[in-house]
Amino acid sequence: MSGCLCLPRYKKAPDGTPSTPAEAAAAKKPSVDSSSSLTNNHPPPSKMDAAVDRLKDGFSKFKTEVYDKKPELFEPLKAGQAPKYMVFSCADSRVCPSVTLGLEPGEAFTVRNIANMVPAYCKIKHAGVGSAIEYAVCALKVELIVVIGHSRCGGIKALLSLQDGAPDSFHFVEDWVRTGFPAKKKVQSEHGSLPFDDQCTILEKEAVNQSLENLKTYPFVKEGLANGTLKLVGGHYDFVSGKFDVWEA
Ligand SMILES: [Zn+2]
Repeated sequence: MSGCLCLPRYKKAPDGTPSTPAEAAAAKKPSVDSSSSLTNNHPPPSKMDAAVDRLKDGFSKFKTEVYDKKPELFEPLKAGQAPKYMVFSCADSRVCPSVTLGLEPGEAFTVRNIANMVPAYCKIKHAGVGSAIEYAVCALKVELIVVIGHSRCGGIKALLSLQDGAPDSFHFVEDWVRTGFPAKKKVQSEHGSLPFDDQCTILEKEAVNQSLENLKTYPFVKEGLANGTLKLVGGHYDFVSGKFDVWEA
């Protein structure tokens, strides 16, 4: 998650092509006063069509250049998965862990969310995250859970920007990033005199540490740690300087 956490606003493209789903749908309808558009059933290409074509082309490339060339990798995966890693990473489009860490299909059971947060055990509020951790640890028997923060994280920026008592702008975002509230308070108390951006950088790692602590509230994680079958690791990917730090919980 990155950039300004403002409510989304659609802008019309300078060339008049549709920018919103509604505009794209409207563009596909044949014009009633255009004889040329009525002569064939193909609507003019839209930005939406191009975006879908990009996905189709991407898969075609993957199929011929990766899938078809690595049967030794993909054939065993048809029978099942046995990943060694569980990875928590931000949903930010710039930080895909499979790309940045060179993880192959089948290697990492992955959860991505805003600001790569792991909330503490709560069956009512966090069944999505909890079920992923439970399945990874109890069924897949992953050996290592890594939580990876990153530079210029918009979710972390949003967390640090939250004012006590101020109304939320989003339905979900603020409530979710408040998961990292204890880490925020720690950073403000220890580094409150630093510029905002520097505090964000520190919070990116401190929020990871809090997630690592929260992981220990899951009974199956606690058990794996006690038995020595599971390890927790923190990470931070800085895409500005091109660095990756990793540390043990
Ligand atoms: Zn992020």
